This record gives sequence, structure tokens and C-alpha cells, in this order.
Amino acid sequence: MKIIESTDAAQAHVRERRAKSVLVPTMGALHRGHLELLRVAREHAGKDGEVAVSIFVNPLQFEPGSDFKKYPRPESTDAKFCEDAGVNLLFRPREMYFDDRSVYVEETRLSAGLCGASRPGHFRGVCTVVAKLFNLLAPNAAVFGEKDYQQLAIIRRMVRDLNFPIEVIGVPTVREADGLALSSRNQYLNTDGRAAAPVLYQAMLRVKELAANGENSVTRLIDAARGVIESAKDARIDYISIVDRENLQPLERLRPNAFIALAVFIGKTRLIDNLRLT
Ligand code: AMP
Repeated sequence: MKIIESTDAAQAHVRERRAKSVLVPTMGALHRGHLELLRVAREHAGKDGEVAVSIFVNPLQFEPGSDFKKYPRPESTDAKFCEDAGVNLLFRPREMYFDDRSVYVEETRLSAGLCGASRPGHFRGVCTVVAKLFNLLAPNAAVFGEKDYQQLAIIRRMVRDLNFPIEVIGVPTVREADGLALSSRNQYLNTDGRAAAPVLYQAMLRVKELAANGENSVTRLIDAARGVIESAKDARIDYISIVDRENLQPLERLRPNAFIALAVFIGKTRLIDNLRLT
């Protein structure tokens, strides 16, 4: 596995490269969810292609007061994880931004609701860093998790609207046996928090069950989800929304292509999840 730590070296590598390349952008603290993205990346790259992983804890996407400083950075464990997973290129830049940077990439429609409403500037940071990674590493395809569904939709829109010649591949969410979606942030949870955290999935399943039994009032469905979440210790709802999968607009009545997305604080840890309903 080749490790590259500067943007200049990344561009030199791309100039020499012949093989098809598939990129998996991450912030590190790699887990089984990321491993699934790597598996899909290999499937698309072929055995002679390049699977590239980037690890960069992007300061631009952390709003003030969030967990940028304490975000886990297990550098050597992550490098071994990539090596063992058959990654060909690990890009972990020490620096990505100029001090006097003045250009950003901003998606203006899909970013308005859900996490975009609770985390101002977050998706501008995400789009800016992903656009830079796309330019630096010039992959043929890039793989993202459906766990961050809004992020995936926004990246697809960015690629479409700015004509990046890159295929965007979405991968279904990988969960623990009790339903909790794998996340690097799960390691912030203490024992009580970990025991309470599957409530996000339970609430979504309850809504799916009610929907399957004919309930189509979004207000009533969201009330049901709220009831499940509020039964858990130390859980505080940031948002629960039922939206259209394509344009992420809130729905009043269930219709085809609806999904539920939520963000819940368990103690101080903010967890997100989503599930297709129809
Ligand atoms: P992160 O390192 O948390 O920024 O995530 C990097 C990529 O991995 C993103 O595309 C995430 O959506 C994806 N990802 C994170 N957790 C999971 C999971 N449990 N299942 C599937 N994909 C995931």
C-alpha cells in the first residue's frame, strides 16, 4: 500500500497512474461500515484497479463548538486496517487548505433541512473537501454510505451540477446486531449511552411498521417515533423528519419514496440514522 501525505505527491501519483481508481473518502477511525465501502470499491475497481482511501478530519465541516478536537485519530491502526483490507493508496494529507483560501463549494437546496439546519456550514465544508479530493485524486468512481443519506444526495447533486466525471456509488448502512448504525462517534458513548443508542433504529422500525399497517399521517408517524425515543434514558431529539428521497423535502402524507431521517443526542453524542419507509 502506498501512503501519500501531501497534495503535491497526490497529483504526481495521478499523473503516473494507469489503472481505474475508486475513492472512499473518510475521516478515519475506521470500522466495519467503512470496510463495506472498501469491499464495494474493490468490486468496482476490479482486481487490477486502484482502491484509494482518504483520511482527513476536515476542520471546515465541524461547526464551532463541535467535536473537531476530540474526534478520534488512530493513525497507525487505520493504516493497518487499510493495508489488511487490500487498499492500494492511502491519502492522509497533513494540510488541505491555504490560510487565505477564498473559494468554497456550496449546495444550496438539499442542504437546507435535516442536518444542514442543525449544523450551519457543515455541508459547505463537506462539498468543498470532497471537490478538492475529486480534483486531487481524479477517481473514476467514489463510494459513500447511505448512513449519511443527506450527504450522499448532496454529493450526487454536486457531481451532476458541476460535471465531475465521477460515478457516485451509495452503500447501505452497516449496523450492529441490535440495530445501531456503526459510526466512529459510537466510541464516545458510555455504557448507559451504548445501551440506549439502538433506540434510533427502534423508533424508525416502529414508524415503518405503522406505515405498513396503513398509517400515512406524517405528524402521527413522527409522534410515534418521538414516543419511542423519549422512552430512552438521556436521549434528546435534534430532529425527526419524513422526507422525499430525491429532493429531501418534508412530506405531509406518506407516498412512494418516503424515508425517515433523525438526529438524536444520547448524552452529549449526536447520532444520525435513516430508513426507507415506502
Ligand atoms: P466518516 O468517516 O464517518 O466521515 O464516513 C466515511 C464514509 O463512510 C461516509 O460515506 C459514510 O456515510 C460511510 N459510513 C460511515 N458509517 C457507515 C455505516 N455504518 N454504514 C455504511 N457506511 C458508513
